[in-house]
Amino acid sequence: MPEALQIKAAVLHEQGGLFEIEDLHLNPPDAGEVLVEIEACGICHTDLMIRDGGYPTPLPVVLGHEGAGIVSAVGEGVRSVVAGDKVLLSYAACGQCASCDAGEPAYCWHHMEMNFSAYRYRNGEWSTPSALSWPLSSGTPEKAPVHGAFFQQSSFATHAVATENNVVRVPTDTDLSVFAPLGCGFQTGAGAIFNTLRPRFGAGVVVYGVGNVGLAAIAAARSEGAGTILAVDPNKKRHALARKFGADQALTPEEAAADDLKEMLGGGADICLDTTGRPQVLRAATDILAPRGIAGLIGGSPLGTEASIDMTHMLFGRTVRGILQGDSRLKDFLPKLIALQQRGRFPIEKLIKTYPLGEINQAVADMEAGKVVKPVLLMKDRN
Ligand SMILES: [Zn+2]
Ligand SMILES: [Zn+2]
Repeated sequence: MPEALQIKAAVLHEQGGLFEIEDLHLNPPDAGEVLVEIEACGICHTDLMIRDGGYPTPLPVVLGHEGAGIVSAVGEGVRSVVAGDKVLLSYAACGQCASCDAGEPAYCWHHMEMNFSAYRYRNGEWSTPSALSWPLSSGTPEKAPVHGAFFQQSSFATHAVATENNVVRVPTDTDLSVFAPLGCGFQTGAGAIFNTLRPRFGAGVVVYGVGNVGLAAIAAARSEGAGTILAVDPNKKRHALARKFGADQALTPEEAAADDLKEMLGGGADICLDTTGRPQVLRAATDILAPRGIAGLIGGSPLGTEASIDMTHMLFGRTVRGILQGDSRLKDFLPKLIALQQRGRFPIEKLIKTYPLGEINQAVADMEAGKVVKPVLLMKDRN
């Protein structure tokens, strides 16, 4: 049995706290698992929602779910990747439930356990909480056990154990500092348009929230031949970026009164996307829908968040559709997004700022202050 690997990881010890870089041990991959030397990992709002206690993920924990790196070993039975392959990591699905059987892994019946419980899913069975442990030599037996397996990866670390299902092989020349965030943020926005809502030619589209998810959705809607595309975000500094990605106009919420938006859209929106997870935004999105219009709900909210809608208004064929991970079937969709970027139609490279792993708290602060759209951590301090 190979020995546990010594790794470095950003550990979150308490709700709302800072991340601390610590030495940890990582067990070797078991059957069906893949050990990845992480090169880059994006930071997503979901990491911060978990930091703040939005879901009951146990602490201390290693978060990070937009990892990318090089496979360094595979467990028994793994066939689709080998050591040396370059891979992106993404969300995990069980592969065995009714949704997975139907080819809809984003709606895996075990999505919450697979991605947020910090339980490791090995060989078709739930197992002990973590492949991670404190080094025995650290002399800290009083420390609570450290949890991993967040999105079956926990990639705020130099190495991660994933499952065969949530790694996607990519070409060897793929720049992982740009493409690591495909595995959550960018596929969530782009996939909501390309895979789920598929606007008809000339459709009126409104995107609420100009972060990495919203910008990916705007680029996708422009690429799909949408008509008028409007972006709504209180941060005016993001408005030029929204136009660069394909929005016809960008507005603050104060400038986006329902009647004005409907007029700009010739009566109402065919498609709205709420990337913010805020109840009042979902309400605003449903209020401006045209008859038969669809509001996509793609932003995460703390458990139990409720929103109100006008029931009579909804009766006229309007829909609210929850969309997880852009309905992405990873091994097919992620390579297509890479190709779209290479054709210049998905300019995500403009949104990335890289930080060494040791500067994770600065990266989070810059993200929360709206100074950077998508921070990406580099595990080797190359810059
Ligand atoms: Zn499943
Ligand atoms: Zn995410």
